[in-house]
Amino acid sequence: MTRDLPASASPFDPKDWEAFRVLGRRMVDDLVDQLQTLREGPVWRPPTDQVRAAFATEAVGAPAAPEAVYAEYLENIAPYASGNRHPGFMGWVQGGGAPIGALAEMLAAGLNMNCGGRDHVGIELERQIATWARGWFGFPDTSAGLFVTGASQANFMAVLAARSFALGGDVRTRGLGGARLAAYAQVGAHACVVRAMEMAGIGREALRLIPPDADFRISTEALRAQIAADRAAGIMPFLIVGTAGTVDVGAFDDLAALADIADESGAWLHVDGAFGALGVHAPSVKARLEGLSRARSIAFDFHKWGQVPYDAGFLIVADEARLTDVFSSPVAYLSRSSTGLAAGEVWPTDLGPDLSRGCRALKTWFVMRACGTEAIGEAIERSLRLAQSLARRIDAHDRLERLAPAELNIVCFRYVCESPDELNAKIVERLQVAGSVAPSLTRIGGKVSIRAALFNPRTTETELDALIAGVLALGGELEKETDDERQRSTS
Ligand SMILES: *Cc1c(COP(=O)(O)O)cnc(C)c1O
Repeated sequence: MTRDLPASASPFDPKDWEAFRVLGRRMVDDLVDQLQTLREGPVWRPPTDQVRAAFATEAVGAPAAPEAVYAEYLENIAPYASGNRHPGFMGWVQGGGAPIGALAEMLAAGLNMNCGGRDHVGIELERQIATWARGWFGFPDTSAGLFVTGASQANFMAVLAARSFALGGDVRTRGLGGARLAAYAQVGAHACVVRAMEMAGIGREALRLIPPDADFRISTEALRAQIAADRAAGIMPFLIVGTAGTVDVGAFDDLAALADIADESGAWLHVDGAFGALGVHAPSVKARLEGLSRARSIAFDFHKWGQVPYDAGFLIVADEARLTDVFSSPVAYLSRSSTGLAAGEVWPTDLGPDLSRGCRALKTWFVMRACGTEAIGEAIERSLRLAQSLARRIDAHDRLERLAPAELNIVCFRYVCESPDELNAKIVERLQVAGSVAPSLTRIGGKVSIRAALFNPRTTETELDALIAGVLALGGELEKETDDERQRSTS
């Protein structure tokens, strides 16, 4: 399009739109090249000293041509990314990203919608996602949901909603006062639940960490006993957090049992389904989510099993009023009209702590529409099969020991040797640096464990081969180094 248009007054607009167009096309081309050839590069490489120095300048400096800035991106940024796109990434509970989501993110930035509120399609899109989620989880028509950064934020908001539900609107005016509250979650609950209690001003002591049963699910017996003890001490059980998919081993609490206990005790049932809730799309996981529809709120992440590019966390509550009770503030500059741009009754800013918010809904909508929830189900089922395959290989090798059941897509194991804690930690470090696969470390029952969390839908048997071969080779190498050192120090 080479029409003669008046020049833009904005110093932010391109001086040469044609050159801008060319640059944009190149960016898309380069990105597609990268995504097609991920396996040819390492999972991760640490930024070099030179790269780090490039990001330690004191001042922004004079404006450069966009082409020059892009060249810097190609040299100093793109090669040093976090690695979770790569098929060898199995380090943490992270998504690999759907490429269509990246293009959608560019479109969203182009539209530059502020999705805090007002009457525009960005709000409709977000409602669309909430409506889909309502269907997936069997939530009622009164439900509402919104995007947040991630499950950490969603869990925090759920704690606040439960707090207001227990104490009434007064908590907004007077704070907690002398209220004595207790919340409950299993020992394997995510650390952000503890932090949510701290941030909510209730304090982490008020979160009772209930021991798990043999299957790493919350012990409902111990939970009942703790609730009874708290009640007897005049403490109000206000919140039960069920985990649907623990980060260490992928265990699912018995949500139906938790819903019963919540009914009996009057506590709010919140489910941290950060990755697990989207398991409703996979037949092998769906059965473990029985009772999910009885929760009052669910936190989940589209950026994990949903493969939407970061970030795309979501909170859904069964009753919209429970969020407006916490977050809605009637101030004049946010007042509503019946028509015009300020129309609409409930805006996202009434449901959460943010006013200005980007449009996370667009990339999510694109990924869901283009790939379907079928893709989520298919990728999950395949990752479960891969985990089974990995577990079999570990069990078949006498130098490898599995440390937890591999019932989902997370496999915890270690190399069997003297001082296993130290050595397995080193194995993982060296594997990450070597770059073909990147598992992470955790502790299972006090033992340092290599953790392969198979969330990247690009991962195949090839990466499992590399993982097993790498662990065995590095284990042998490290044992030899230890022996050599020992000999040197005794000679
Ligand atoms: C990832 C995760 C979280 C934290 O979610 P973010 O999106 O990283 O904030 C919380 N709970 C569980 C079970 C998780 O897997």
